[in-house]
Amino acid sequence: MKRRQRKPKKENQMLLTLTNTQPPATDLGFLLYKHPQNVRQYPLSFGIAHVFYPEADEARCTVCLLVDVDPIDLVRGKATAIGGGLLGQYVNDRPYAASSFLSVALGRVFATALSGRCADHPELVSRPLPLVAHLPVVAARADEGFVTALFEPLGYHIEMQRLPLDAHFPDWGHSPYVALTLSGTVTVKTLLSHLYVLLPVLDNAKHYWVGQDELEKLLRHGADWLAGHPEKARIARRYLRHKWSLAREALARLEVVEDEVPESVTETAATTETAATDSEMASITVEEAAVEAPLSLNETRIRTVLAELAAAGVQTVVDLGCGDGKLLSRLLKEKYLTRLVGLDVSVRALEIAADRLQLERLPPRVRERIQLLHGGLTYRDARIEGFDAATAIEVIEHLDENRLAAFERVLFQCARPGVVIVTTPNVEYNVNYPFLPTGQLRHPDHRFEWTRAEFESWGQRVAAIFGYAVRFEPVGTVDPTVGPPTQMAVFTRDVEQGGEA
Ligand code: SAH
Repeated sequence: MKRRQRKPKKENQMLLTLTNTQPPATDLGFLLYKHPQNVRQYPLSFGIAHVFYPEADEARCTVCLLVDVDPIDLVRGKATAIGGGLLGQYVNDRPYAASSFLSVALGRVFATALSGRCADHPELVSRPLPLVAHLPVVAARADEGFVTALFEPLGYHIEMQRLPLDAHFPDWGHSPYVALTLSGTVTVKTLLSHLYVLLPVLDNAKHYWVGQDELEKLLRHGADWLAGHPEKARIARRYLRHKWSLAREALARLEVVEDEVPESVTETAATTETAATDSEMASITVEEAAVEAPLSLNETRIRTVLAELAAAGVQTVVDLGCGDGKLLSRLLKEKYLTRLVGLDVSVRALEIAADRLQLERLPPRVRERIQLLHGGLTYRDARIEGFDAATAIEVIEHLDENRLAAFERVLFQCARPGVVIVTTPNVEYNVNYPFLPTGQLRHPDHRFEWTRAEFESWGQRVAAIFGYAVRFEPVGTVDPTVGPPTQMAVFTRDVEQGGEA
């Protein structure tokens, strides 16, 4: 215990503050199991964690987690096994930045809160609070876009500043560290689980050996949100320190809650009476995929849409909310389609689409058939007018419900294509995703997910208002009770009412 008496040097400290501003703000103390009037210490294998509250009143309560890392213990290898043993003699930044150490400290100090327990006030656990997490120094070995890509889909407002290598010599350029502030209305458990997983992901260098245990931790702490995270593949790889077999297993197990799960696996999950354990599920996934090479739901969706377009005899298609261009890349192979446009609000998605389509390398005659446009779906846009067909595949659920009416007018009144294909999740089917907590939507960015009745009533209403006929089709294997995983509406403009596009 000598370590505890050693006076910590300032630069060996890592800091996280967490502020609640929802009165009574001191509820934070119940949620974290730490009384606001106490200062507590927790010995860790690599140093010591202190927890205290610099402010705690009705309106505002801030808890501070300060971790003193003992670099001497670290380089002597006294701390937990570090890969080959040592951490790179003295030449390392481990103690100086919020990183996987902070994540380990979080897991130890706030274990109860992370597991979503609060014996005194269980009703608080699921209550989203306006929280601000501030990390003055975080290792972020990635471009700044990655920080945004990690936290934005989880609903945070992000403030970030890249720190200079040396504050006295700004000319030396930037360090791998950022000052990061995340604000969002989330539960304490959720915020802690995001930090627990994503700090090491940002850091990209863990200080201890990565094995099956780490995979289990990733899946446990990511259970509520990782499957739907657009960066889940990079998160898994970096969290598991680029151990590909573990990352693959993590992704296979996550797929079970995601809609890209191979169909036969979903079926197995749905029809198996006894609950399969996680590892059984993983092996089901692998075996089924290998034996049947089944179609993923995403592939099924694409094929269904291709078939509808071919049957409708259209020649020009605009793909609204085209995302990373999976459908477009298939449409481009269809020679009967003379003009294709993909539109999306996300520049990043469009960049990935351009890569996937290899736009730069297409022969001129193919290149001139396709165009990617940056734009929104709730504002009139002349560039999407005049097409035979429009597709909006898994897009409407990303629009705020109060913007849907604007989208309807933009699409059915202004763009007015002859055929409109809309797909969206069938929320009733979610009971078949064993890892998806009851009531949770499939993706953190989904604003809603509809039952079949809700989707059909929306479709009927839109068709009636704008002069279209509509029919509804299932996509994916239909569960006798809850229906298909994806539902599709095919709108066809009434000839009499259609007028000119
Ligand atoms: N159609 C694609 C992507 C679905 S994800 C596929 O099936 O794979 C939803 C997409 O809608 C995302 O790429 C998102 O950026 C886009 N999106 C969400 N809101 C939008 C808006 N208001 N305007 C344009 N695109 C939007």
